[in-house]
Amino acid sequence: MVETKYIFVTGGVTSSLGKGIISASLARLLLARGYKVTIQKFDPYINIDPGTLNPYEHGECYVTVDGHEADLDLGHYERFTNTPTTRANNITTGRIYQNVIDKERRGDYLGKTVQIIPHITDEIKRNIKLLGSKNQFDFVITEIGGTVGDIESLPYLESVRQLRWELGKNCVCIHLTYVPYIAAAKELKTKPTQHSVKQLQEVGIQPDILVLRTEHDLSLNLRKKVALFCNVDPAAVIQSIDVPSIYEVPLKMHQQHLDEIVLTKTGLPINGEPHLEPWMNFLHRMKNATETVRIGLVGKYVELPDAYKSINESLFQAATYNDRKLDLRYIHSEKLNSSNVEEMLSSLDGVIIAPGFGQRGIEGKFVALKYAREHDMPTFGICLGMQCMVIEYARDVMGLTDANSTEMDVTTKHNVIDLMEEQKSITNMGGTMRLGAYDCVLAEDSIAAKAYGTTHIRERHRHRFEFNNEYRQAFEEAGMRCVGENPETHLVEVVEVPSLRWYVGVQYHPEYNSTVLNPNPIFVDFIKAAISKK
Ligand code: GLN
Repeated sequence: MVETKYIFVTGGVTSSLGKGIISASLARLLLARGYKVTIQKFDPYINIDPGTLNPYEHGECYVTVDGHEADLDLGHYERFTNTPTTRANNITTGRIYQNVIDKERRGDYLGKTVQIIPHITDEIKRNIKLLGSKNQFDFVITEIGGTVGDIESLPYLESVRQLRWELGKNCVCIHLTYVPYIAAAKELKTKPTQHSVKQLQEVGIQPDILVLRTEHDLSLNLRKKVALFCNVDPAAVIQSIDVPSIYEVPLKMHQQHLDEIVLTKTGLPINGEPHLEPWMNFLHRMKNATETVRIGLVGKYVELPDAYKSINESLFQAATYNDRKLDLRYIHSEKLNSSNVEEMLSSLDGVIIAPGFGQRGIEGKFVALKYAREHDMPTFGICLGMQCMVIEYARDVMGLTDANSTEMDVTTKHNVIDLMEEQKSITNMGGTMRLGAYDCVLAEDSIAAKAYGTTHIRERHRHRFEFNNEYRQAFEEAGMRCVGENPETHLVEVVEVPSLRWYVGVQYHPEYNSTVLNPNPIFVDFIKAAISKK
């Protein structure tokens, strides 16, 4: 165990440059050198967490094992680091202010005027150091959301400035910027980077390392120029060029010695090379796959691929471990109906029915399910997707034509999916779903148990509604089995139709628990079934 080192990752010029991927790639390299590493994200918005945000605002809402609704970047962190995150890994301005205001109400500030500096910045610093203080990690990488120059990021940058002085050599600042290519002039331009670093310097932060996002190779001369203007070692000006897969970024960073530079700057020895073999093995399979597997994802946010980020990545990992290229087709559930379903689904090897909330687009999911069931197409329902499987089966196979979830119709006579008992008294929408990891026991002869290779699993959840156990026997008699349940509450976690090749619905979200080095077995098995259907 070394003294905890703190690495800050800020961004400039524009958003969406991939600070999360750079943070995760650096973490992967340090892990591969035997260090214990975690990554946290500070989001400058006022919401307490992204749980109540619409996917159009913020893409997918990720869920940690301890039941925190988190920014989707935490998904990248876990997929790259293979280490679970917790609520401590994602802090928002809302949470910082809430903590400070709670302290003020308790009287903790002893009559002082409560101010952004030092009270808000102290609370930010306390949270930054929280993960390091338990001596669990050698490196705590902190990604500061937003872009330098944003009003709302200022208290975070001020905290980083203060910490730099407090931590000395145990602190490294990495700044990510963009180098645009002006096609008319046939030139790459460093001015936005220079301005962005100046802006950072204005708030008192001198970056140690610059990562320049670019679509074209940056010459040594260009990098030297940036180094000169920005007071950074030329060797610490690193390019992050577009690559076909985000999983190649750690290698690109290693080729330019990002890990070694960080070790040197924090006074740690460079002992040989990082142990990247398992990662390379994944990339090797990814690059060598020639045949494809074609999966359709039926959902209502298909124009917004970030809404299903973890599902996309889980499918991609599972396809790679099956030595296949993933051909993922998004199918808009609102546009799907019985007259176009054949055309939309017939060429697929398997179909995923996506999670979601509310009535919009739900009928298309039923149309897809009926088609998939009648054509024995490998079908995987996740959360709302599983609930739709149950409803469609009740309507079409069991003759309960008005079966529904009380989420869609509170007056339905056949509430095969119903609000969980403990949800009935809840009025606050923030952070009150059934969230986080819960145990599930699987029937030994189920597809799920065979896929996982065990009958005891633990997966993450995010829902308010559940399978109505009053209908359990009727479903089992009609051929849909409840093969997974929570051992304490008997909440149904997994349904299957054994007469079909692979028709599995899960109440949990397996996509939150699938990483490059540990793909979720249920996805791997689904892809395997889709391939064998071919
Ligand atoms: N809307 C459903 C529920 O709350 C499903 C949620 C989901 O798909 N995450 O139970």
